[in-house]
Parts: sequence; structure tokens; C-alpha cells
Amino acid sequence: MFFEYHISAPRADFYDITSKVRETIAKSGITDGIAVVYCPHTTAGITINENADPDVVRDLLIGLDKAFPDRAEFRHAEGNSSAHLKTSAVGSSATIIVNGSKPVLGTWQGVYFCEFDPPRERTFFVKVVRGE
Ligand code: ZN
Repeated sequence: MFFEYHISAPRADFYDITSKVRETIAKSGITDGIAVVYCPHTTAGITINENADPDVVRDLLIGLDKAFPDRAEFRHAEGNSSAHLKTSAVGSSATIIVNGSKPVLGTWQGVYFCEFDPPRERTFFVKVVRGE
């Protein structure tokens, strides 16, 4: 069994989904194991990063735009190759240790849904697997 969530992503941004991950772990009834957060899209991803200073996420977006700009030589007809590149850079999933019915995250860590090709209605999945 896994849990499915829907998110409106009106702009390119990192959307904090940490509370959904916590909620899913609680609903699963699993106290020890791992949680996998997975994004089934090719122009949006999942990452873990700082959730204390919102400027960090802003800087990540600026950095990704600089690292993966639109280029005239790109051939993909949809015109969003930059978003595909950013998605491969951040990845499509995060795996988080579950201990005592809680995700093991650092003090400053949050789980983010990363939208790179807005506006979109998106989906992500969370699966919790029991393990010692
Ligand atoms: Zn595309």
C-alpha cells in the first residue's frame, strides 16, 4: 500500500511536503523502517534541504536556473528541457529512515516537492516499508 497526494504548483518553487511525510508515517502504523517519497513526473522532483531559512530554497532555484538555462540548441519540441535537466539533477525520490513512527530528519531538514515547469497539478507518492 502507498499513499497518493496531489499538489497545486502555480510557480517554479520548492513546496514543503514534510508534514505530509510525517502524516503518512503516522497513518501507516509502521514504527520502524523507511519512507520513500516519489514523484512520477519528468519536470518535477523531490529533494531534502533546509526548511529554516526560506532564502536557501530561493537560492537553490536561482542556482538551478544558472546551472541549467534554456539553450537554443535544445531539440525537445515541448521547450522545457531546462526543467527536465533540473529534475534529473535533484532526482525523483527521497528515502528517509523511520524511527519511533517519525522520519529521521536533521533539525534544519525538510522534504520538498520541486516544481520546474509550472503551472501544474502534480502528484506524489509516499510508501512506508517496515524494517528493523
Ligand atoms: Zn518536456
